[in-house]
Amino acid sequence: MAEQESLEFGKADFVLLDQVTMEHFMENLKLRFEMGRIYTYIGEVVVSMNPYKQTQLYGKDVIEQYQGRELYERPPHLYAVADAAYKAMKRRAKDTCIVISGESGAGKTEASKYIMQYIAAITNPSQREEVERVKNVLLKSNCVLEAFGNAKTNRNDNSSRFGKYMDINFDFKGDPTGGHINNYLLEKVRPWVPSGLLLGASDPRLVSLHLCRDPAAYRFTSEGLLTSDQSNFKAVADAMKVIGFSPEEINSVYKILATILHLGNVSFVTEGDAVAIENRELVSQLAELTSTQPESLLRTLLYRAVATGGGEVIEKGHSGKEANYARDACAKAIYERLFCWIVGRINTVIEVKNYDARLHGKNTVIAVLDIYGFEIFESNSRTRPYPPPPLPACTGAGIEYFNNQIIVDLVEQPHKGIISILDEACLTGGQVTDAMFLESMNTKLGKHPHYTSRKLCATDKSMEFGRDFRIKHYAGNVTYSVEGFIDKNKDTLFQDFKRLMYNSTDPVLRDMWPEGEVSITEVTKRPLTAATLFKNSMVALVENLASKEPYYVRCIKPNDQKSPLLFDAERCRHQVEYLGLLENVRVRRAGFAYRQPYDRFLLRYKMTCEYTWPNHLMPTDQEATRALIDQHGFQDDVAYGHTKIFIRMPQTLFCLEQERAQ
Ligand code: ATP
Ligand code: MG
Repeated sequence: MAEQESLEFGKADFVLLDQVTMEHFMENLKLRFEMGRIYTYIGEVVVSMNPYKQTQLYGKDVIEQYQGRELYERPPHLYAVADAAYKAMKRRAKDTCIVISGESGAGKTEASKYIMQYIAAITNPSQREEVERVKNVLLKSNCVLEAFGNAKTNRNDNSSRFGKYMDINFDFKGDPTGGHINNYLLEKVRPWVPSGLLLGASDPRLVSLHLCRDPAAYRFTSEGLLTSDQSNFKAVADAMKVIGFSPEEINSVYKILATILHLGNVSFVTEGDAVAIENRELVSQLAELTSTQPESLLRTLLYRAVATGGGEVIEKGHSGKEANYARDACAKAIYERLFCWIVGRINTVIEVKNYDARLHGKNTVIAVLDIYGFEIFESNSRTRPYPPPPLPACTGAGIEYFNNQIIVDLVEQPHKGIISILDEACLTGGQVTDAMFLESMNTKLGKHPHYTSRKLCATDKSMEFGRDFRIKHYAGNVTYSVEGFIDKNKDTLFQDFKRLMYNSTDPVLRDMWPEGEVSITEVTKRPLTAATLFKNSMVALVENLASKEPYYVRCIKPNDQKSPLLFDAERCRHQVEYLGLLENVRVRRAGFAYRQPYDRFLLRYKMTCEYTWPNHLMPTDQEATRALIDQHGFQDDVAYGHTKIFIRMPQTLFCLEQERAQ
């Protein structure tokens, strides 16, 4: 009997709840979590609870059980969704996407890896060499990206500091022929140098990088926020080799990482108006590591070039504060560019070759999106200058959008929206503070029904006066701290530094700074601000997703203690609320969640009805299906399409499954 039938494990699909209330939902979620049933459906959506322990759920035997099966034939699993997306892609030549959401530590990245492993496991039965290579690179890329882009935070020991969108391309046989990765919003509060570099590198390598083995010796690694360890270092080095990074490139990557660490340790002293570098030895080491001239490097750390109105260029010395700021901005920028370069390099290796496409006809795609959900906590280091995009919601009838337009306008509208107000504040020049930006929003948005700030709502003690503002989102209120908004949005990086990097003789480093080619007098166009760039990338992402058939994984974190045993009802409820899961159940209940071609339906269930077993004698498969449904008394739960039967409730399918098993 299918697992779904056993009440002991709760309802395998929330659509089967007796009543769609938060209490019933939570009860079922808790029961299943406690029984080790971490996956539950809402129709085709998988709700996934982080088990915080190793399970037996991902073995080869399990993969085999899901391969080529329909969603409801097996207990809920990520594999079932991966298989559904794969089948849609292969059978119907549909581009599909699997959207994974949830807060930090909820299990998104783990889920995305299991999905990729599943796809890798079920494809290329004929072991074609090129396909194996592509699969290998796709899988190994996770390890490298995590090493450079993940960090230990108090929410998650292996927290992704970037959002990842990955396209996997397939040929007509349904085998992966390539892929493409886009990364979003790499967090730049500080650079995350993989500490494994220090712990795992050989002595001679460390000496050549002027590094010591102690992470505490470097400002950027001294805070204990380390992710990778020694064993990880080897895995990453191997993965880079497998992917196809050349030894020279890997060497450059090490040097760039060492540059970031040394740069973080540069300290300044002020004597009167003059600013000097305290630890001068670092300058020559940095020049060596970056393959630049020590004199140019020194000048870049202490001065900036400013173009005067008359086309002249003058050098202006940094103040102590500016020098510190510029140093950190440079370190963060190097880190970000390195990360993007690594992503770009992986992409060149897995890019679908044109000749492949010509040879194999249409290329179809499965996209996997692992991007962190926004969070609802105060002083949240991930506070974004922008709420998440309106993702398409899957309903029985196809894609629909939650009507989020009012919020989108609040954020995006030209001249009036938050981004415009922020950009305007950043572009006016002079000393603009976060508080001034908030003030400006209060003036312009004070009457907006979805906007509040403490100043405008003095009774709300949960918000800090002069620091927070709140947006009433579809799924609840989110409080944003304005702290750092101006800085993050300006993303100030002096042109001199870009030119210095561009003039490096290290080809990898040089490659990362193409705009350094422009001379200072030519730099007239203001670069787009971070918020605008982000908005543009989100708009493109949403457009891209909307063109694909969506599948969803909603991840929930059971508690904040990383415990496999604790179901923190309050925390879970909160996530259920803001993931909009109850609405999801309601939408599902209202629509026809399942559909299947008549012939396939009969093949699976014909033995449950005397009119169809062993073979039906009706003129059409549709009529035979009707006879079967009528005999079971399910006529109210189905609709008959041209080629397919549509079924509203999973219960109907579970009953048929049960009949079949008898
Ligand atoms: P972030 O937004 O911070 O990147 P995330 O949603 O990607 O968070 P993960 O890194 O996937 O979260 O998961 C956090 C941790 O939870 C993992 O390192 C792992 O220890 C545990 N975990 C998550 N999913 C599973 C699973 N299916 N089985 C076992 N452990 C899991
Ligand atoms: Mg993650």
